[in-house]
Amino acid sequence: MQNLLHNLNPEQLAAVTLPAQSALILAGAGSGKTRVLTTRIAWLIQTGQVSPGGILAVTFTNKAAKEMMSRLSAMLPINTRGMWIGTFHGLCNRLLRAHHRDAGLPQTFQILDSGDQLSFIKRLLKANNIDDEKFPPKTLMYFINSAKDQGLRAAQVDAYDDFNRKMVGLYDLYDAQCQREGVVDFAELLLRTYELLSRNQPLREHYQERFRHVLVDEFQDTNDLQYKWLKLMAGAGNRRAGAVFAVGDDDQSIYAFRGANVGNMSAFEREFEVKNLIKLEQNYRSHGHILDSANILIANNSKRLGKNLRTDAGHGELVRVMEASSDIQEANWIIEEAKSLIREGSLRSEIAILYRSNAQSRVIEHALFTANIPYRVYGGQRFFERAEIKHAIAYLQLMDNPHNDSAFLRVVNFPTRGIGARSIEQLQDAARAQGSSLYAAVRHVGGKAGTSLANFVKLIEGARFETQNLPLPEMVKIVLDLSTLITHYQTEKEGADRIENLEQLVNAATLFVSEEGFGKEAPAFSGPASSAAVLLENGDGTAIIDADAALPTLMSPLSAFLSHASLEAGDNQAQAGQDAMQLMTVHSAKGLEFDAVFITGLEEGLFPHENSAQEESGVEEERRLMYVAITRARKRLYLSFSQTRMLHGQTRYNMRSRFFDELPEESLKWLSPKIQPSWFGNSKKSAWDDAPIEESNRIAQQMTRQSPSMTWRIGQGVAHPKFGEGVIVNIEGSGTNARAHINFGQFGMKLLDLSVAKLEKI
Ligand code: ATP
Ligand code: MG
Repeated sequence: MQNLLHNLNPEQLAAVTLPAQSALILAGAGSGKTRVLTTRIAWLIQTGQVSPGGILAVTFTNKAAKEMMSRLSAMLPINTRGMWIGTFHGLCNRLLRAHHRDAGLPQTFQILDSGDQLSFIKRLLKANNIDDEKFPPKTLMYFINSAKDQGLRAAQVDAYDDFNRKMVGLYDLYDAQCQREGVVDFAELLLRTYELLSRNQPLREHYQERFRHVLVDEFQDTNDLQYKWLKLMAGAGNRRAGAVFAVGDDDQSIYAFRGANVGNMSAFEREFEVKNLIKLEQNYRSHGHILDSANILIANNSKRLGKNLRTDAGHGELVRVMEASSDIQEANWIIEEAKSLIREGSLRSEIAILYRSNAQSRVIEHALFTANIPYRVYGGQRFFERAEIKHAIAYLQLMDNPHNDSAFLRVVNFPTRGIGARSIEQLQDAARAQGSSLYAAVRHVGGKAGTSLANFVKLIEGARFETQNLPLPEMVKIVLDLSTLITHYQTEKEGADRIENLEQLVNAATLFVSEEGFGKEAPAFSGPASSAAVLLENGDGTAIIDADAALPTLMSPLSAFLSHASLEAGDNQAQAGQDAMQLMTVHSAKGLEFDAVFITGLEEGLFPHENSAQEESGVEEERRLMYVAITRARKRLYLSFSQTRMLHGQTRYNMRSRFFDELPEESLKWLSPKIQPSWFGNSKKSAWDDAPIEESNRIAQQMTRQSPSMTWRIGQGVAHPKFGEGVIVNIEGSGTNARAHINFGQFGMKLLDLSVAKLEKI
C-alpha cells in the first residue's frame, strides 16, 4: 500500500487526517490546499473510512476535476470515473438527470450556455412586445441570474419599484418559457437541485447519508446558493450531518462580480461548528522574490483574514519588468523571452501568458503564430461556441428534444430552405395559441409555409430514425450530411475552416465517447450508500434510482454529449495533447501553476480594470486578481505594460498599473529604464475619479483651437490658462479626438480635449 502521507508537512498531515468533522483549511496560494484535499480523499478511502461512492468533491473547473481524478488514480488503484468529483454545475446536471421526473424536467432537458441564454431572453422580450431599450436583455439576464444565485424564484424577489416589478414579471415569464422548452440555464441547474432536495425528504436523506464526506476546493468563490446547496447536501445541523472539508484563500476571492461571497467562509465556520481551522503557511510553489512580491502587494488590501506565506526555496531570480512602447512590441518581447526559455530547455506548456481581458490575446496570438510557436488559448471563443458548431449542435438538440425553440429557430432556415420571416411569425402565433413549442405547432400552420415547415420536421424525424442505435460519432456524421451544413459551407468563400471545425465535431464525439466510457460497463460502488437506494421509494411507488453510476446509465450518449458541449470549459480539441504555450485570462489561471509566467498589459484601466477602479472594493478585488496572477509562477515571473495599446478598435495611451508601486523594489529588475512617473504613489485613488468631464470640456471649447499636429505624451508637463500647471497622466483616442486626463494639482484631475484645450508644453 502506498504511503500517502510521507510527503506532507505537519500542518498538511494534520489536515489530511482530521477526524470526520467539518473543517476549514485557510491558506495562501501554493501552500498545498488542493494537494491536501486530494490526499484526504485518497486517505479516507485507503483507510476504509468511506467508499469511493461516499465522497462528493467540488472543484472549480472541469479541468480541475479531471486533474483531481487522475491524481487519485495515481495514488490508489481505483477507477475514479464514476466518482462524484466535479463542478457544482456538473454534479447538479448528474443529479437532475437521475431525478428528472422529481425535478419536473424532461429527461432530455438541455442546458443553455450564457450566449444561448441571452438570445433566449431577446426572443422572449420580442415575443412579448417588451421595449428592449427600457428593459435591456443583458440587464434582465443579470437580474435573473443574480436572483437565482441567491436561491430566489420570481415570487420571492422583493420588488420595490415599478421597474423591479416588471423585471420580476419577466423573470417569471422566462422561467415558464424555459420549462415549456425543456431547457435550463447554468444557475437553474443549481437552484433546481436545491429545490428538489429541499422538497423531497427521502431523496435528501438518501444523499445526506450517502455522502459522508463533502470536500470543496476554492471555497472562497462559492456564491450564496452554492453555500446553501452544500448545507443541504451535507445535512448541516442534523444527525445525519456529513463532514464538509473546505479549503480556500480569502486573498484569492475573485468572483464577487458573479455573486461569490467570501463571507461564506466565516458563515461556514459558524454554521458547521468548525472545530478544526488549519492554516498552512509554507509555500511550495514559488521562489522567494515571487512570493515576496505577492505578499507585499496583497498587504495593501484592508479586508483580509490574515495569514502568512513563507518558502524554503530561496530568493530565486528577480521579477523582470518590461515597459513596451506598443502592444505589438510587448508581444514581440514576450516571444523573444519565451524562445530563449525554450532554448534553455523549458517545456512550452510550462510557460503561461496571462492577461486581464480576452481581447488582449489577439496581438499575442498573432505574434506566436508568426513565430510558429504552438500555443493553446483557454477561455477565448470556445469550440462549442463557434457558429457552425452551434448550428450542428442545434440539429442534434432537436433530435434529442424537439421542444427546444432556440435550437429550432437557429436551424429551421439554416441552410436556407425557403422558410421566411413571415412563415416563422405564423408559426409563432400558432405556438402561442396552442401553448406549445414551435415544433409541435408546425401541424397547425397551413399553406405553403406549412408545407416547408413540415418538411423541416420530416428532416429532423428522418435524422432521428436513421441514426437510431448508431454510435454517437456516426450519428454526428450523418447529421452533418442530412442537414446539408457541409454542402452549404462548401459554397461559402471562407467555408473551409468551418468544414474543418465540423469535422472536428466528429472527433470531439469520438473522444467524448471513449473518455466517458459509453459502451463500457459503468463502475458501480458497493457499500451502504447503494444498498440504501433500493430501499427508497418515490411517491408513485417506483424505486429511486440512485445517481450512483457514471453518466452512461443516466443519459443517452447524445444527451450526455449535448450537456458536455454546454458545460465543458471548452479547450480547442484540435490542439489537445501538443506541447504548447498556455494563454489565458488571470481568472482562468486560478489553481494552476507554471514554471514561467508573463503577466501582460499591467496598465491603469486595464489591470486594475477601469470598471473596478470606481470603488475601493473593486480595486481590492483587482489586487486579489493580481495576487492570483503572481502566485501562478514557480521560478520566473515577467511583468509588462505598454504605453499604447489598440483595444476594441481604439488606441489607448495608458499609465502603468498602480500595482508596480505596491511591489517590493528590491525584488524587481527593470529591463527597460523606468521612465513613467509613478503618479499614484501608494494612494489608491483612481485617475478617473471625480473628473468633471462636461465642465472641463465646456471650458476647453471656449478656448482657441490648437493645432492637432501637436504631439503629447504621458508624463508631459503642461500649462493651462485657467488650471495652471499639470501633468498628463493618460491619453485616450487619437488625432482630433484625443483627450487627456491631466492632473492640475489643486484643481484636481481634468479630462480635456487636446485639439481644443489651450495647452502649452512646459
Ligand atoms: P492555489 O491557492 O494556487 O490553488 P494550493 O494551495 O492549492 O494553491 P497546491 O496546488 O496544492 O497549492 O500546491 C502547490 C504546489 O506545491 C504543487 O506543485 C504541490 O504539488 C506542491 N506541494 C504541496 N505540498 C507539498 C509538500 N508538502 N511537499 C512538496 N511539494 C508540495
Ligand atoms: Mg489549489
